[in-house]
Amino acid sequence: MLNVYGMIALAALLGEFMLGVWVDLLNLRAMRPDPPPGFEDVYDSERYRRSQEYTRARAAFAIWPRAVGLALVLVVWFAGGFEALDRALRALEMSPTLTGVFFIGTLVAGRAVMMLPFRYYSTFVIEERFNFNKSTLGTFFSDQLKFLLLGSLIGGPLLALVLVLFERGGSLAWLYCFAAIASLTLLLQFVAPAFIMPMFNRFSPLDEGALRDSIFGYAKSVGFPLSKLFVIDGSRRSNKANAFFTGFGRQKRIALFDTLVERHSVEELVGVVAHEIGHYKMKHIARSMVLSIAQMGLMLWLLGFFLGSQPLYSAFGISEPSVYTGLVFCSLLYTPVDLLLSLFMSARSRKHEYEADRYAAQTTGKPEALAAALKKLAADSLSNLTPHPAYVFLHHSHPPVTERVAALLSMARSPQ
Ligand SMILES: [Zn+2]
Repeated sequence: MLNVYGMIALAALLGEFMLGVWVDLLNLRAMRPDPPPGFEDVYDSERYRRSQEYTRARAAFAIWPRAVGLALVLVVWFAGGFEALDRALRALEMSPTLTGVFFIGTLVAGRAVMMLPFRYYSTFVIEERFNFNKSTLGTFFSDQLKFLLLGSLIGGPLLALVLVLFERGGSLAWLYCFAAIASLTLLLQFVAPAFIMPMFNRFSPLDEGALRDSIFGYAKSVGFPLSKLFVIDGSRRSNKANAFFTGFGRQKRIALFDTLVERHSVEELVGVVAHEIGHYKMKHIARSMVLSIAQMGLMLWLLGFFLGSQPLYSAFGISEPSVYTGLVFCSLLYTPVDLLLSLFMSARSRKHEYEADRYAAQTTGKPEALAAALKKLAADSLSNLTPHPAYVFLHHSHPPVTERVAALLSMARSPQ
């Protein structure tokens, strides 16, 4: 039963799992007893010990959802679950598109339900233990419900469209799908900041005062039209702080977590905003979006290529090929390509972080303020200061904070 498609998918699933475990082990072994030089002021020995304990706790936990997710796929696959589900749905004699929506919907929902206890444990046991969690059970479950609703309302019709296009679109189906998905992705850039994000957080304009004046003064000095500067109630869910830039055109906005505003000085916050504006000015956001849309195109093209291949279906025990089963199996086969592309995207993102830091340093003239903010942020979220390079390579979209701080401080010493 295990033909070449089956072997590739199996090797990819097992390989990805083992790679994750191996890199986690490397990361744990890279820990050192004392904080790196220059970080003693924000990590006293007690905090440093707790940051290592937190890293260990997260690593020990992370293996479980991954192992269960893998086991779930393997059990469904080798117990003939795909075929059984397909037969059960076909017996209802719905249209192929609707059958497909239910087939994929069942798999996605099944996986989400299996993962729910892990999300719960991560929030209410691990994050709680390290005093990060602020979510109530009410917030937690209403979040899950909103994810489910949004996923069904946006994902459901999109999936139906993709299935119809591949059923009827002939050899160019992938291209039609690509056009549809790319348009939706662009549309979401405008819809998400205005309608979706406010479903999860309250966005309030930053209060009048020295901070607001300094940030607007800075934005003006670099010619950035800052009209939407918000504080969001990140403290509803977690003690961890953050800031982000989102949207395009008139919808572009910068959001600072309330936890960030509370704990940082005006200079530090201007540094953080300058970093976010740096991302925009250097077109990081737009270029990353173009790349991820191109990535989607590649995936759809590969999909169109493999959908007609009979051995793909027999590898997973399916007797009657269909677009929707093909879609699921291609996504399993796609694992290694996906991994390679995500490594590439993370490496780009790490480079962009340095660029945005440099932009902030040069335009504010205060690299040490951003460095201080980064150190405080790391200490407050108990970041691991000594991630193994392989771990960074595999998982991190941001460079290690020690390296970002070193780069900023070297700019402070020799300003360009
Ligand atoms: Zn950044």
